[in-house]
Amino acid sequence: MRFSYVTLFEGLIASYFEDSILKRAIAKELLSVEFFNPRDYTLNKHGKVDDYQASGGAGLVLFPQPLFDLLRSIKQASHEAYIIFPTPSGKLFTQNDAKRLAHKKHLVFVSGRYEGIDERVIETFADELFCIGDYVLTGGELPSLVMSDAISRNIKGVLGNEDSLSMESFESPLLEAPCFSKPPIYENKSVPSEFLKGNHAKISSLKNKMSESKTKYFRPDLFSRFSAKH
Ligand code: SAM
Repeated sequence: MRFSYVTLFEGLIASYFEDSILKRAIAKELLSVEFFNPRDYTLNKHGKVDDYQASGGAGLVLFPQPLFDLLRSIKQASHEAYIIFPTPSGKLFTQNDAKRLAHKKHLVFVSGRYEGIDERVIETFADELFCIGDYVLTGGELPSLVMSDAISRNIKGVLGNEDSLSMESFESPLLEAPCFSKPPIYENKSVPSEFLKGNHAKISSLKNKMSESKTKYFRPDLFSRFSAKH
């Protein structure tokens, strides 16, 4: 998988790949990461990328020319480039999207800043628009990272133990049952005794029940979808 990030703030994204699972995925050549700065594509002397809104009103917008030239050059160089714009106006990004997009070869994430990106850029180049939640962030860098992290976990070989994927929240589509570790009792709080007896069928049945009640309590929306199917 090739991830390209179009951003004015490369450092915000690059530092995320300096540690842990994603760093290993790059070393194993399962992932590659590259950056494009719209300022390098401006035709004005000062590298200006933003301007006032045509409609008036507060806030600046990333204007079309640098992004048109940049995205066009990415598309000319890579016919597999699939362009994603993080934006509050997109559809909500889900685990299904993460799994689906993990099959692409080249994803390009275009981070907006300020009041956002001139709509003509989005109309011309977007393959998909995604919102990561109903709140507004200052830029598209975090949403791009959130999506690429979730996608990476679904690329074969990225996770050490792929069983962990099938057990996770949203897969069943319930939330995952609570996890416990050692010791069996800590500050008077005990691991469920069934977990310590080694009967895998009983552990699995208890986990299913816990998973259902956790989902019912924290995510009644997911639970009603689940109960409609079962
Ligand atoms: N004026 C825009 C609006 O009200 O929809 C918000 C612009 S926001 C301050 C700047 C950039 O952050 C956006 O262009 C987008 O790239 C990113 N962004 C902010 N919140 C986001 C969210 N919830 N999901 C995805 N991207 C988001």
